[in-house]
Amino acid sequence: MAPLAKSVIYLDNAATTALDRRVLDAMYGVMSQGQTGNAHARHHIYGASAHNSVEAARRQVAESIGAEPGEIVFTSGATEANNLAIKGIAQHLRALGKTHIITSQVEHASVLEPLKELAKTGFELTILGVKPCGMIEADMIERALRPETGLVCVQAVNNEVGVIQPIEEITEMLAGRDVLFHCDAAQALGKSKFSVDFGIDFASLSAHKVYGPQGIGALYVRKERRQLLSPINSGGGQESGLRSGTLPAALCVGFGTACSLIENDTAHLRGLRWAFLSRIGWLKPIIYGHSHPQWNVPGILNIRFPGVDTETLIMALPDLAFGVGAACSSGGAKLSHVVRATTGSDQAARESIRLSFGRFTTHQEIRRAADLIIDAVENIKELQGAA
Ligand code: PMP
Repeated sequence: MAPLAKSVIYLDNAATTALDRRVLDAMYGVMSQGQTGNAHARHHIYGASAHNSVEAARRQVAESIGAEPGEIVFTSGATEANNLAIKGIAQHLRALGKTHIITSQVEHASVLEPLKELAKTGFELTILGVKPCGMIEADMIERALRPETGLVCVQAVNNEVGVIQPIEEITEMLAGRDVLFHCDAAQALGKSKFSVDFGIDFASLSAHKVYGPQGIGALYVRKERRQLLSPINSGGGQESGLRSGTLPAALCVGFGTACSLIENDTAHLRGLRWAFLSRIGWLKPIIYGHSHPQWNVPGILNIRFPGVDTETLIMALPDLAFGVGAACSSGGAKLSHVVRATTGSDQAARESIRLSFGRFTTHQEIRRAADLIIDAVENIKELQGAA
């Protein structure tokens, strides 16, 4: 890959983060051994060594969310984890006649799409709207419950507007109701307080959102629920039969190390957010997401300059790497279904951009990014005025 221009400021940490150097070092330790063993061939020293590394990583991942190591199923990322949870539980739910599922409009595509697939095979899906601040509240879900509701899927933190969903309130409301709860926690790990102790049955995680490598993630499966889940691919039966395929030892080690390094970046990110907003405040941008810091992660800032559309901003800001819509939508830029869901406006979705700061973002970069945006927005408005 050609070296990237260092002059381009990276403000797309919600899409993916840089590898932490310490993660890279740990992965290098595995990859530079000459022969990495297959973690499932434990009868010889190479396999046993890979197995030990993977199991140590599993403990680190588990610890970061308050789970037991045996409750962690490694996957290729949160997309696969979401698919495994949703499609994997379908057979069980169908057998019980619990074929109604509740979710929200602001979920990631890797939750919404598998749910829509289930809806084509006899499941009934309720996709709840959210409040203008982007939140879905427990009582909104409670009102949608039916006797045949078997599953509720709500993310912990939204990837586009940074809203923290009230997961504990939702699980408290669901307690004792015989309804399973799946939480896409890809954006929560390292960004907000997240623990499976909240009463979660399944939770999806991704390493590359926490300064770990791309291509690895996990599904947390509460041990009492393990027997309810069926695998979605067939093969050698690894991961206790739930996810066949050879585990990538170096990636697992990278993920584990990244989890062990989850630091409290909040103060740094809050500082960056405040510095950025105070510099551009006079442009009077509209900010999407919850306005209270308790309900919004500081590193994700979804912002709109009315009258300035996203496409024009992308072209005017070649030195800024930022997000538009969901990064995981193939083909790059796609209008944000989340901004549309929170505002009800296509215009808002066409004009919003997502800036996401990370552990390695500096105040100097933030100042420069703010100045570049100010120049770009002013130029665009001037040209519009002249037209
Ligand atoms: N869920 C959320 C909320 C995300 O932000 C993402 C990544 N954009 C995913 C799931 C998918 O994660 P992965 O890239 O690991 O498949």
